[in-house]
This record gives sequence, C-alpha cells and structure tokens, in this order.
Amino acid sequence: MPETAADLERFTVVPARALVVVAHPDDGDFLAASVLAAWVRQGTRATLCVVTDGDAGSDDVTIPAGELARVRLAEQRAAAAHLGVDDVRCLGYPDGILENTLDVRRALVRVVRQVRPDVVVTMDPTRHWLDRGYLNHPDHRAAGAATLDAVFPSARDGRAFPELLRKEHLEPHKVRYVLLGATDGDDVAVPVAGVDLEAKLHALGEHRSQFDAGEMGTGVWQRAREVGARCGVEFAEPYRLFDLAPGPSQRVAAEAEPGPAILGGEPPPPPLPTTDWG
Ligand SMILES: [Zn+2]
Repeated sequence: MPETAADLERFTVVPARALVVVAHPDDGDFLAASVLAAWVRQGTRATLCVVTDGDAGSDDVTIPAGELARVRLAEQRAAAAHLGVDDVRCLGYPDGILENTLDVRRALVRVVRQVRPDVVVTMDPTRHWLDRGYLNHPDHRAAGAATLDAVFPSARDGRAFPELLRKEHLEPHKVRYVLLGATDGDDVAVPVAGVDLEAKLHALGEHRSQFDAGEMGTGVWQRAREVGARCGVEFAEPYRLFDLAPGPSQRVAAEAEPGPAILGGEPPPPPLPTTDWG
C-alpha cells in the first residue's frame, strides 16, 4: 500500500460533555459512533439529538404515519446503547422537509443549553453532494446549518430567544469546539480504537428498518485505517474542526469565566487570530 502523507492533525481532546446533532435516526452512527464510543470509554457524557422523526425513511407508503418513526427511534436507542450513550433525544420535526427555521434553531439552543457540551458534532451544511452517486439529503444540510446557528451565536447569547432564560432558566452556554462530519473539508482526525469500530458496527446493525449492515464492516475498518494513516495512528475518523475560543478582545472577559471541562488529551494548538464579529 502506498504511504500516505500525515496531513490531518490529531484531535485528542476528550470532552466532559459531547453533543451530536443529526437529521435522522441512523445518521449519528455513520457520523460519530466510533468517536462517541471512544469518548464514553474515557468518561464523556454524551447526548445524541435527532432533529426529525425519521418517518419518511421507507418506500412503503402503506406503513401508517408514525409507525416508522416509532421503530426508528427504538433502533436509534438500541444503537446508542452499544456506544454507552443513554441520552437520545428526538425533536420530532417531519422527516424529509426539514428547514433551518428559527423554531428549529430555538429547539437546538434549548438542547445546547441543557447539555452544555464542550464539543458539538454535526453534519456539514454546505455539502450538496458527495460523489456522482450521492446527492446529500437536504435534511442533513438543514440540521447542520441549524446546529451551527444555534451554537453561534444564539446559545451563548442570553438575549437570543429570551424566553429560554426567562421561563426555562437555561443559562447561555459557549461551545468550545465544533466538529463537522460528512464533509470534504476534513482537517483533523479523532483517534479511535478497534473496540470503538466494533461498537460502531453493532450500532449500525440496529438500524434494520433502513439497511443491512452486514456488508459494512470491511469499509468501516478500511476507512478508519486510511484516516488513521493520515494522522499517525492505527484508526481515526475525519472531521473539520472549529475552535471557538474567544478572540483577543474577548479574552479578558473570558478569563474570568471557567474554561470548558475537558477530561483529557492534549488540546489542539492555539487558534489563529480571529475577528470579533457577531
Ligand atoms: Zn440521514
């Protein structure tokens, strides 16, 4: 096999709290299952938030409304259990027609402020296609866009959706890191172990209403090995990283606040200078 250049930085932060936001039941297991398994093994408390109900995920139009949603949520909970994740939330928006509305953003701000994650993982909202044979699902883009908009600026601003603070007592929360998956702009990789890839395959295997995961093993192992080679470890998963550490002029105020609760790992190098817009 040709030697691959190590072109991905290792992201070794182990967050105290992690939040994964995806469009459909099963997306989270393609996007982040092995990483969640790895983090949970190291002490992370993880939440998986599925924005739609998954009720459009079949060609069979005779299935009664709501039935597939019920089945898929049960599959998602069973899948998450393989990763050690017991906090699975479904926001219940209709599958197939998700838009990045203020209502969706408010719902995600609520989740972010409740979970108070150090790392949020979601789907790249800019990706309209992956290759000749795969147009990206618009729900994936909408869920990713709404998540980014919830993280910044609405979750951190007490004056955004003021009813969340006033009525639900949800204090603003600043997310430190965002990892975008299903992207062609990967710049970091999260190391995982073989047991985490096994957990991912068990998780994928639970989505029986959607696909047969029996054939997926080879691809999962091979891809993780290829990504691992790009960052100098055996196995890894690729993402695009955003480090939302405060910019220089915000740093004085931020120093008075406690930093994110990170359990371990080396933090990535300090961010490049950023603007202070918005
Ligand atoms: Zn999906």
